[in-house]
Amino acid sequence: MRPAPRQKVSAFREREERLRKGRDAAQTLRAAFPNVATVNVQLRFLPATAPLHAAQSFMLYPAARAYFSYPCPYGDCDGIYDLSAPAHQALARKSAPVSGTLECAGVRSRDGLQRQPCGLRVSFTIAAQYEGAHAST
Ligand SMILES: [Zn+2]
Repeated sequence: MRPAPRQKVSAFREREERLRKGRDAAQTLRAAFPNVATVNVQLRFLPATAPLHAAQSFMLYPAARAYFSYPCPYGDCDGIYDLSAPAHQALARKSAPVSGTLECAGVRSRDGLQRQPCGLRVSFTIAAQYEGAHAST
């Protein structure tokens, strides 16, 4: 018997499923952080050797889910960047953006190669804007 050729697809599906479940389970931003008007999440990938991945930027509004996990941009990787800790830090601390870097903990399964750790690094910045933040008083 050959190994199942659907492994790549199912790993991808499984990741989508995990993200969807997490998003469904999250509170809305309005419920979790009532004073927050918007949250801007910026992701810049830091590939040493791989082709450059486009930077990503997300704007969250109060009706959005307060969910801060993002899939690794490699289609053959099952990794998810979990930014919930820095996001909550950014949302709790008011006005100061939180930034840092994370390494993908996923595993890539490419054709003809053994499964290998991904390790793609992402540089992130999370900035929250608050209701009434531009009031002059
Ligand atoms: Zn990855």
